Amino acid sequence: MVVFCCWILSLSLSFFLMLCRRATLFVRPLTVSMRRATATSAQQPRRRPTIHGVVFDMDGTLTVPNLDFGEMYDRCDVSRSDDILEAIAKKPAAERERAERIIEEMEEEGRGGMELMPGCRNLITYLRDRAVPLALVTRNTQRSVGRLVELLEGTEASSNGDAVFSPAISRDHPPLVAPKPDPSAMFLIASEWKVGTDELLMVGDSPSNDVAFGKAANAFTMLLDTGRRHREEKEKGGGGGGGGRNSADVVVDCLEDAPFLLAAHFTLPPPDREGQGGAQTKDTTTEKISSSLSQL
Ligand SMILES: [Mg+2]
Repeated sequence: MVVFCCWILSLSLSFFLMLCRRATLFVRPLTVSMRRATATSAQQPRRRPTIHGVVFDMDGTLTVPNLDFGEMYDRCDVSRSDDILEAIAKKPAAERERAERIIEEMEEEGRGGMELMPGCRNLITYLRDRAVPLALVTRNTQRSVGRLVELLEGTEASSNGDAVFSPAISRDHPPLVAPKPDPSAMFLIASEWKVGTDELLMVGDSPSNDVAFGKAANAFTMLLDTGRRHREEKEKGGGGGGGGRNSADVVVDCLEDAPFLLAAHFTLPPPDREGQGGAQTKDTTTEKISSSLSQL
């Protein structure tokens, strides 16, 4: 009798445990699906602003920096806390001409050794495939801009023969406007393209010059921080490029990353595969970005 009671008790316990396990199996997927639902509702897709044009800085952004500005300031006898062009303009005629010759000599040397920044060609191609207007604002000269375009000529970026940057604003060629960070050039570009400045993106390597220029015009800004110098300055508590009024909307370590971050932060027109640029360009960036984003 005792054995029979024990057997019945054991059987009941096993049945009860089985019911509990089955109940758990039903509850667990429900819990997971509810978590997924919560996560989905919390991760509402962000509205990415639409960009209708990109404005580039040249030296240190599209080209590898090869001008020693410290040497230029010293040779021109200008304090490094001053704006070199403004300081030279205030000098007596003879000193001004000497300083201008030094700058021209150094810039000529820079043109001779000019190299495209790694990722420059691919970024330009990526934007041109989408028919995004491109402009350039530099304190360098039109001859240096010409050398940059020469480096891009014969490549996919300019294969259709159009000017790569329109307008390309330099310090010595019309339209002559106040230099960066004065926002006049950005307003001029927006007016020429018939878009708002808040639909433009400024890409440059200087927080105090390029980012401030974009911010002053209410444009979006992308800081190219190749040595992570500006980011590290910010982390140390310095002015840097990551904080304050010169804080960029997006910071990239290298131009190769720029198309990915553009796609992540902004809305751009889709590639024009039927158009001339898109049909002639073997752009693998689009496929890479689509593949990467789909895996996020
Ligand atoms: Mg620069």
